[in-house]
Amino acid sequence: MYLTHLDCPRCGREHAADQLHNLCECGSPLLARYDLPAVAKAVTPEHFPLRPADLWRYRELLPVADPRHVTTLGEGWTPLLRVPTYGAEIGIEDLMVKDEGLIPTGSFKARGAAVGVSRARELGVQRIAMPTNGNAGSAWATYAARAGMGATIVMPLAAPGICRRECVAAGADLRLIDGLIGDAGRRVAELVAESAGAIFDAGTLREPYRLEGKKTMGYEIVEQLGWQPPDVIIYPTGGGVGLIGIHKALHELRELGWIGDKLPRLVAVQSTGCAPIVRAFAAGEERARPWADAQTVAFGITVPAPLGDELILAALRASAGTAVAVDDADILADLRDFAGREGLLLCPEGAACLTAARQLRAGGWIRAGERVVVLNTGAGLKYPETVDVSGVPVLS
Ligand SMILES: *Cc1c(COP(=O)(O)O)cnc(C)c1O
Ligand SMILES: [Zn+2]
Repeated sequence: MYLTHLDCPRCGREHAADQLHNLCECGSPLLARYDLPAVAKAVTPEHFPLRPADLWRYRELLPVADPRHVTTLGEGWTPLLRVPTYGAEIGIEDLMVKDEGLIPTGSFKARGAAVGVSRARELGVQRIAMPTNGNAGSAWATYAARAGMGATIVMPLAAPGICRRECVAAGADLRLIDGLIGDAGRRVAELVAESAGAIFDAGTLREPYRLEGKKTMGYEIVEQLGWQPPDVIIYPTGGGVGLIGIHKALHELRELGWIGDKLPRLVAVQSTGCAPIVRAFAAGEERARPWADAQTVAFGITVPAPLGDELILAALRASAGTAVAVDDADILADLRDFAGREGLLLCPEGAACLTAARQLRAGGWIRAGERVVVLNTGAGLKYPETVDVSGVPVLS
């Protein structure tokens, strides 16, 4: 294993990687660091196509020492689809969708869960707990079951019903809460404190390895494009783990010498019903203030006070990116327009990225001829309410 230590991006303190850690003493999430010069000696880009089509093909850049601890359901290596018909419609000829809807548990949360659960198992964790907007709970409950680990999941009542069922099916201790993810987080903190060390808090960015699983989206996009990064990557941002992870992955690839200096501009997409990052970005702030009365059809990105706000905003600025808020009505209209033209039913969070792409192209921020990758972070099948079928005739 090439993992060396955990770094605090805020205060610079280093932490040992062979022990369990949550946040740094200063309150910041921690980032896993590797001996990249040694990785570059051990493996080159030519090796990867010979390996299995899942995220473990990047094992030198992942934090699991013993292969027996790898907990997998075949996650990763999702298709990067060209969508020329819809692309031409919105003036982005070279538009691509990375379809994370094909992953186990129906969302890219499986990437973070596979790596996070594997590492937690390696470090001796017996039970994890987390607040979730639905998909993270589904994924972590599923991978925890496969690893023989307990899972306590706290989820808002308004989260997609299928996520509840997935948690129950996987044998998780599921609790529902009449509130938002922040309220669920407070309940998890109580449960963890009462457990006297028996429960490990695996909430978003509260442990460093979920990020390591999600960063593999960045490696895959680049490998799938022949080690040529695209011009723009558009990401639906809730907790921001995927965005921070893709940013981290791109910098690791650059340090490894596997890509050049020019990196993609990263775009954080939020809903106008919950846009703390967009507001902070526009105001030039380093931290985001909590969003009041958060509500959007894109439930996975309803995160009023993301813990990784500093890291998200830094990644957007470092990449010369931007942050965009889009309306729910536009998200749903674009979701249906896209399905009609390309035949793929997106999740609302993925559709929000198309709305953002369309608006950024119309405003000139995305230029003609640029290659743009949009993340569809989950399966449209998990959100049956996005398509109205009440007008469909019933034959007699
Ligand atoms: C969790 C989630 C997101 C947001 O992911 P973050 O990494 O927390 O920003 C986006 N889309 C879907 C479908 C999700 O489940
Ligand atoms: Zn710190």
